Amino acid sequence: MANDNQGLQENRVFAPPAEFVANAAISGMDAYNKLCAEAASDYEGFWARLARENLDWHKPFTTTLDESEAPFYKWFADGELNVSYNCLDRNLKNGNANKTAIIFEADDGKVTRATYQELYEKVCKFANGLKSRGIKKGDRVVIYMSMSIEGVAAMQACARIGATHSVVFGGFSAKSLQERIIDAGAVAVITADEQLRGGKQLPLKTIVDEALALGGCTTMKDVIVYKRTGGNIPIVEGRDIWLHDLVESQPAECEPEWVSAEHPLFILYTSGSTGTPKGVQHSTGGFLLWAALTMKWSFDIKPSDVFWCTADIGWVTGHTYIAYGPLAVGATEIVFEGVPTYPNAGRFWETIDKHKATIFYTAPTAIRSLIKAADVDPQVHPKNYDLSSLRLLGSVGEPINPEAWMWYYKNIGHEKCPIVDTFWQTETGGHMITPLPGATPMVPGSCTLPLPGIMTAIVDEAGHDVPNGQGGILVVKRPWPSMIRTIWGNPERFKTSYFPDELGGRMYLAGDGAIRNKDTGYFTITGRIDDVLNVSGHRMGTMEIESALVANPIVAEAAVVGKPDDTTGESICAFVVLKQARPTGEEAKKLALELRNWVAKEIGPIAKPKEIRFGDNLPKTRSGKIMRRLLRVLARGETITQDVSTLENPAILEQLKEAS
Ligand code: ATP
Ligand code: MG
Repeated sequence: MANDNQGLQENRVFAPPAEFVANAAISGMDAYNKLCAEAASDYEGFWARLARENLDWHKPFTTTLDESEAPFYKWFADGELNVSYNCLDRNLKNGNANKTAIIFEADDGKVTRATYQELYEKVCKFANGLKSRGIKKGDRVVIYMSMSIEGVAAMQACARIGATHSVVFGGFSAKSLQERIIDAGAVAVITADEQLRGGKQLPLKTIVDEALALGGCTTMKDVIVYKRTGGNIPIVEGRDIWLHDLVESQPAECEPEWVSAEHPLFILYTSGSTGTPKGVQHSTGGFLLWAALTMKWSFDIKPSDVFWCTADIGWVTGHTYIAYGPLAVGATEIVFEGVPTYPNAGRFWETIDKHKATIFYTAPTAIRSLIKAADVDPQVHPKNYDLSSLRLLGSVGEPINPEAWMWYYKNIGHEKCPIVDTFWQTETGGHMITPLPGATPMVPGSCTLPLPGIMTAIVDEAGHDVPNGQGGILVVKRPWPSMIRTIWGNPERFKTSYFPDELGGRMYLAGDGAIRNKDTGYFTITGRIDDVLNVSGHRMGTMEIESALVANPIVAEAAVVGKPDDTTGESICAFVVLKQARPTGEEAKKLALELRNWVAKEIGPIAKPKEIRFGDNLPKTRSGKIMRRLLRVLARGETITQDVSTLENPAILEQLKEAS
């Protein structure tokens, strides 16, 4: 599993701008080191201080960390609080009542705003409406909605009454939705009639109907429907209720349900890049603490900021950095309904310009596709838009290839915005390893250093630390407040997946490979641990070869997998998307040869892909991640029998079956 390559040969270093450093929440490396030292000398005291300073507690906690049932750790367990109180009521008390909480940018460009006062009232009515249907603390509620103020309000309303939500991304099929409803044992589904995406009206409510018709959803009682498009949909008497009817006569105040800090705030299924999705259970107190604190530390959020995270509420990024984090710190945020390519691929840049966004947080997959789009159509190049409001950029979801980083830095940030390359997972609840925008010198493609209090390390298969410069397995050595509590209904899988006996049973296994730079100690994620390649005894991460390919000007995207080979043990098969149309025949052969030689020159002959296949796209999860596990099957020429429920574009598999 280890990776004994030297990691990315990346020598470019970018210091954070002096002005940013001067005003940052964590200003300079000394401030960062001081916080790390505090955590090292008194771990529990460190977290207790932060929890007291950053959250409003109804009943203060007396124990910080309870390890008695490790790895089922508990944080602040005897404390009581309410997430919605911390996100809404607290802002009304802090003088933010008339501040804009959400700027909603609809698919068609229509804008709706909600102040903290308005959002508070919406959430209270929603919460009272849920209570009127008998939904109560501890019940599970599935939310199957597109991006909307109502979607955020639905999550907040559940939190307000102590119901545990499970948001299912609005692109999932009836079957996937049914499985999640059953697994969570949900009593209600909150949905919309339809969703608007890329100028199209797409079904939501009819998919809920289909999911329930599949059977087995024995706990389900209510379907609550938000009218988004007014499309024609059937209503089942007694089971279905319109949201506007539900909330109509409800009072605009609702006493929050005070819950233990360990009360499950939500269950969220992982994206399924590496296997069957897991129902990740998160807590109330620890989760909210980290959501709020990372808004301050990683995003350096200020009262004047306009924060824009482009994720969907169906993914963890949309939980921590749309539904909870920004509101917990009283920020103004953009909630975007549409897609990056509608009405054209300049939509993100136009929206930043339109709302004067100051912090922009998106995924490498979006950046790579917009680089390609700007190359093909100069009209949608970011230079046509005024992006001068931006002061900070962020990336999340996959490793960002250094060349994509450079493009983002130059063309979007105009070399004045730091980029926070935030490494984290559904399971971690919030950022783990990231540069601090006012402190950490940045290196393209490296997520740099762990946040204060996050005890990441790189170990070998036996759990022993490996020296810097030598790759291995990324682990977290101490529990942290926002960590996963269990896999819903499957504590055994929780233990074996994340705290395997081979590593001693107390180290959190992230599932990613990483390497630390010899000189700086900076972390670079090299790929999933199952994705490490072994060619003639040389271990390599997929990330390094992919980044070399993406550094070639004709390449838009690349994914690399291993394939059994008689002579070398494993050989490298690269799947490549070019900026130009997909080549075939002789042209494909010529370009493949060119790219193979390119990789040999960039990294070394050992990294030269044996085979290159060109596609119009790569198989991706609905959250935009490359599904290398499927590519491995294709590379071997086998038939796919694995779980493909979270695959966005099944048609692409056919094209990638053989060499072009
Ligand atoms: P599953 O666990 O079901 O396979 P998944 O791991 O894709 O799905 P997520 O929790 O959404 O589900 O993604 C977390 C993973 O995304 C990380 O483990 C890592 O591989 C990748 N990742 C996220 N951010 C970064 C980043 N900044 N740099 C490198 N990799 C990242
Ligand atoms: Mg994962």
